[in-house]
Amino acid sequence: MAKEKMLEDLFHDTLKDIYYAERKILKALPKMAKGAQAPDLKAAFEKHRDETEQHVERLQEVFEILGKRAQGKTCPAIDGIIEEGEEVLEDYKSTAALDAGLIAAAQAVEHYEITRYGTLKRWAELMGKKDAVKLLDATLNEEAKTDDALTALADALVNEKALGKAA
Ligand code: FE
Ligand code: FE
Repeated sequence: MAKEKMLEDLFHDTLKDIYYAERKILKALPKMAKGAQAPDLKAAFEKHRDETEQHVERLQEVFEILGKRAQGKTCPAIDGIIEEGEEVLEDYKSTAALDAGLIAAAQAVEHYEITRYGTLKRWAELMGKKDAVKLLDATLNEEAKTDDALTALADALVNEKALGKAA
């Protein structure tokens, strides 16, 4: 009994962490889209911004399932990752390496989200919260797809440009 209560507390705290993170990401993605040079990369960031809006909504639904108020808790990890992305935007402004740097920064964000959603989904399964599992899994899939799309973009156009091999 005590064990189950502990996992539910952990679940709730981690939910607050990713809720804070998603709302920060929602604000960061338009800046990344604005900064990106390649039209395809710009479009990828814009598309994921729209998806992120849904991620926030899904988390609100998970809070509801728990019978808790949707509430964020400062996540220094995502603050740091986003700060590094802002540094890339500043330090590599108007350079051939900018897009490669933005992709790297964005993939750090996606990987952070993937670890959080992976954990939350597993815990929701253990707690028997099937509706929460579905919601968390839907977002997890979108994060993974975004990560793959960014890798494909980097391979297709960005990294070579950063190396100075293509126009
Ligand atoms: Fe997300
Ligand atoms: Fe994401």
